[in-house]
Amino acid sequence: MVCEIITIGTEIIMGNTLNTNNFFLSKKLAELGIEVYFHTSVDDNPKRLKSVIKTAFNRSDIIITTGGLGPTKDDMTKEVISKVLDLDMQLDKDMELNIKNMFVNGNWTMSDNNQKQAFKPIGSTFIKNVIGTAPGIYIERDNKKIILLPGPPREMKLMFENSVIDLIKANFNIATTSINTVGIGESELESRLNKLDLDTKNTSVLTFAKEGTVEIKIISKNKDKNIIKNEIKNIKQILEKEFQDFIYGYDNVNLEDIIINLLIEKKIILGLCESITGGMISGKLTQVPGASKVFDRSIVTYSSSSKIEELGVKKETLMQYGSVSKETAYEMAKGLFERNNLDIALSITGLAGPGHDSSTKPIGLVYICIITKNFEKTFKYNFNGNRALIRKRSTIKALDEIRKIIK
Ligand code: AMP
Ligand code: MG
Repeated sequence: MVCEIITIGTEIIMGNTLNTNNFFLSKKLAELGIEVYFHTSVDDNPKRLKSVIKTAFNRSDIIITTGGLGPTKDDMTKEVISKVLDLDMQLDKDMELNIKNMFVNGNWTMSDNNQKQAFKPIGSTFIKNVIGTAPGIYIERDNKKIILLPGPPREMKLMFENSVIDLIKANFNIATTSINTVGIGESELESRLNKLDLDTKNTSVLTFAKEGTVEIKIISKNKDKNIIKNEIKNIKQILEKEFQDFIYGYDNVNLEDIIINLLIEKKIILGLCESITGGMISGKLTQVPGASKVFDRSIVTYSSSSKIEELGVKKETLMQYGSVSKETAYEMAKGLFERNNLDIALSITGLAGPGHDSSTKPIGLVYICIITKNFEKTFKYNFNGNRALIRKRSTIKALDEIRKIIK
């Protein structure tokens, strides 16, 4: 199944607009297991657009276009495509009303041009645009599928997420399931996946690295829904067994959502003291609605004196072992735990670089200490990367340790 993306607009050909639609669509289609073989871009010229569409129609099974759906004269994507496919255009009364209402509700004056957007090729279907006037269009012809999307990235992306993903899944008999992991790198995960040798004629397993986490995606394609269902179920079971320690959720939930919900469910109060991450961990956790029920505080103790004053870390400990040490991490967490009413206290301290104040400790050295009523443990890590990456990895690792301790 060959897919081609056609991006239409003089501005992208002339270098006035960066072609971000291509990038977005390719990435999303890859995640659906759709093979994109061609990117074509063309200016707002009916002759050249016609030739590009004809070529695409000859070599691709799915064609996705962006741009040229607006009300002005240079917007002609659906008109040209209708001509190439020899389809007449028809006014859709519902869509006309829809567009009219949009103008009424927004208190704008509708121009005659806008009526043009209520026309579609006979036999095609509109795809809803909730933030703009140009609807998308889905056409099936000679076993080929053509999806016309608006050019503005905001509208295109929303339409893709809201409607096109489901449309593709339904029309191409695709089902996907995602397993979200943390605490295992993509390369290790992939090599363990390769050993499991799970791919079948219908189903493939892919990995996608996201910020500090890795998504394992099972993509299955077959007309028979039962085959798809069973294969996904079997593979999911094998993956759950192999990667059980690393799985934190399914279908792209956020790690911080999982943590807050677990804390709420188990009525556990969490507090943090952050040095290297400077509040990044609490920043993540407080994005989740309801966090106030279980997240008590985070104290950013960046300087040595703040570690002494806020947490009671001993001056001698800092002098003898340094602020990045298991001893300091321990005293930070201990002080936090003893001074506040917490079920879990977590401390984090580390060297993010690039500068260096101690010659013996490597940049990327990070300690996390967790203390609860009946558990105390200090973890040591050596992260790679620049300052930003080390801080990001420290944040994710701390979240993962919290998740593991709650479980
Ligand atoms: P149109 O639907 O052709 O009227 O496109 C409207 C606007 O969307 C253009 O002026 C661009 O700013 C933007 N746009 C169109 N195509 C792309 C693209 N491929 N990548 C990024 N932005 C685009
Ligand atoms: Mg345009």
